[in-house]
Amino acid sequence: MTTTSPFPNLLAPLDLGFTQLKNRTLMGSMHVGLEEEKGGYDKLAAFYAARAKGDVGLIVTGGIAPNIAGWVAPFAGRMSSSRHAKKHKVITKAVHAEGGKICMQILHSGRYGYHPLAVSASKVKSPITPFKPRELSSRGVKSTIKDYANSALLAKQAGYDGVEIMGSEGYLINQFFCERTNKRQDEWGGTLENRARLAIETVKHTREKVGEAFIIIYRLSMLDLVEGGAPWEEVVYLAKEIEKAGATLINTGIGWHEARVPTIATSVPRAAFTWITKKMKAEVSIPLITTNRINTPEVAESVLANGDADMVSMARPFLADPDFVAKAMLNQSDHINTCIACNQACLDHAFEQKRASCLVNPQACYETELIFKTVAAQKKLAVIGAGPAGLAFATYAAERGHEVHLFDQANEIGGQFNYAKQVPGKEEFYETLRYYAKRIEVTGVHLHLNTRVDAGLLQKQQGEKAFDEVIMATGIKPRELSIEGVEHPKVMSYLDVLRDHKPVGKKVAVIGAGGIGFDVSEYLVENENLSTDLDKWLDHWGIDKDYKQAGALKPQTAPRFEREVYLLQRKSTKVGKGLGKTTGWIHRSSLVNHKVQMINSVTYQKVDDQGLHVLIGDQPKVLDVDHIIVCAGQEPLRELENELTEAGYKTHIIGGAYVASELDAKRAIRQGAELAAEI
Ligand code: FAD
Ligand code: NAP
Ligand code: SF4
Repeated sequence: MTTTSPFPNLLAPLDLGFTQLKNRTLMGSMHVGLEEEKGGYDKLAAFYAARAKGDVGLIVTGGIAPNIAGWVAPFAGRMSSSRHAKKHKVITKAVHAEGGKICMQILHSGRYGYHPLAVSASKVKSPITPFKPRELSSRGVKSTIKDYANSALLAKQAGYDGVEIMGSEGYLINQFFCERTNKRQDEWGGTLENRARLAIETVKHTREKVGEAFIIIYRLSMLDLVEGGAPWEEVVYLAKEIEKAGATLINTGIGWHEARVPTIATSVPRAAFTWITKKMKAEVSIPLITTNRINTPEVAESVLANGDADMVSMARPFLADPDFVAKAMLNQSDHINTCIACNQACLDHAFEQKRASCLVNPQACYETELIFKTVAAQKKLAVIGAGPAGLAFATYAAERGHEVHLFDQANEIGGQFNYAKQVPGKEEFYETLRYYAKRIEVTGVHLHLNTRVDAGLLQKQQGEKAFDEVIMATGIKPRELSIEGVEHPKVMSYLDVLRDHKPVGKKVAVIGAGGIGFDVSEYLVENENLSTDLDKWLDHWGIDKDYKQAGALKPQTAPRFEREVYLLQRKSTKVGKGLGKTTGWIHRSSLVNHKVQMINSVTYQKVDDQGLHVLIGDQPKVLDVDHIIVCAGQEPLRELENELTEAGYKTHIIGGAYVASELDAKRAIRQGAELAAEI
């Protein structure tokens, strides 16, 4: 009897001639920060081995520099000696032991190097780094090509199955290729042939060094999304030359790091850029890999079935769930812990030089440290609150073998995630709730919804056996203001808006410009959901599908402007400064587009029929608004603490109930997971 594959295109093998990949998934390159940690290579080995065990078709490592000038940051990973190669063997061995294949990415950061030794095609500083690069001499370019090829040979000696040559995202090879950054007049600048030479010679020399039976992926910038980026004809020319030079596969690169267009944030529609890989498929014969915001097997399957590409690259989805492919093979995609594209624990950490992990999977990059061992003696545990902290704790603790009872006063799990998911562009938060619902079922957590807990109720629930310990994950309460007129009907809380959907007028002042103030403002001004309408979204951000201009940019469309919103804070710093490093600018520019007035240095004086009376600096002003929405932070909700202690329960407090300031779901979930690993 033959069984049909649940995802026939995604799970089909790919024959590369000298080797075969078991399916069409590629784990895209991510720098996770372990590369530079003491003992980091053993941790990296465990990290990659878990993904190989989960049946990823081909893994690509984080970027490793071919020489010192190519470092992303001082003392970043480098492959230029046999001593370096030796360190990598633990990784390749671990991956091969799990039946996986792995390529090392060679990344020369060029002017993106965060150090004074950075080099580039020309002395043109990048807008996102403080160091002006030195212009490489012609000899310097030639020795850089040698360094790439040498690095690839060393990777082969370290046991890698191939390399990926990073030619996109605005790194060195991209800097040589585009007129934006290449102002040279020698054989490496000026004409298209000259600007493309570094890329082509690098692939050629690498192929010569490593021989035929070794994968070379070239990551080609198909959409630069910056002014002075490449026109489509030039990208096609380069793709054809790269194919001739001996690449095995071409991977898609979307947008330079300095592009002011979101390319992977949660508000980017799923599979938003696969059309560009499809356009390239008409031009070259080697297999093409497509990428960006593909986060479920269903999306990946439809991209491949549509003929957009031969393989699908997913990076963050494998941080979120190492068993993504294995679960797809079992037709269990509803068991997958889906990447919500928040960037909070991965890319934001990488940009802050911290070890990456994953908001929804705190075990990512902590495979050897955060371990959930089966328990020797089962405990009966009560968890109060099914927000992210309570959900993480309950499911990990039950997985370990404890008897877990999870209570929430609401009629659904998720806590504040139920408000977050309603914010336009945050629909991915539904996936986390779907995942936890499944985990509750699989791990056998006893779920009690519509149940407000107090110590008395726990006594009643005990039945035959008393609860051994209680976990208070009751979250927060919104901070209340103490200004004059706060009782006025114009004043609302963010819960009135997001939870109770009370009507809001056309003129609004939002007090507090933290994550929730921004989300509420976006909820109020966004009148159409762009993340589910790709063409509108592309128009909104000025991405030209017809590629009429170099870089594929066109003027952005102005959004409809139906509500007047003031977003206010007391601090004198730039409004939105505290938002995520890699996503804050998107939220800010979205609100600027909607003409939201973001005002700092505000003192709130009173509310009356006229509106909100404030001082801006020392200037008095009355904001004539219909409603004032308070998003002024939160305080821990731990009213049960004394009651539980008096009733003699050993109580643990996690998530917002523990500390509300600077709380986010990343901390709530990690804290729940860490307690579950210990209890
Ligand atoms: P909560 O989510 O508040 O859950 C507590 C739960 O306890 C609730 O379900 C409540 O009903 C229950 N409860 C309380 N008392 C009792 C009782 N006595 N008996 C039974 N049940 C009880 N974070 C991010 O990291 N990224 C984001 O993008 C993000 N966006 C957000 C957007 C919005 C609009 C909001 C409101 C929050 C957002 N957050 C975001 C914050 C994030 O949701 C919180 O940090 C997280 O939910 C805190 O988790 P928690 O489990 O500690 O508490
Ligand atoms: P927050 O980020 O702490 O912001 C609270 C805001 O209220 C600040 O702008 C603060 O600025 C103001 N404020 C504080 N006390 C005030 C007072 N007494 N009177 C008037 N204003 C006051 O908290 P939040 O917006 O409630 O968000 C809660 C958590 O959810 C955050 O920690 C955040 O990480 C998380 N979250 C994250 C995202 C995301 O996209 N990553 C989105 C939403 C929420 P001033 O003191 O300058 O006025
Ligand atoms: Fe995805 Fe967020 Fe996890 Fe990064 S931290 S992998 S974006 S869910």
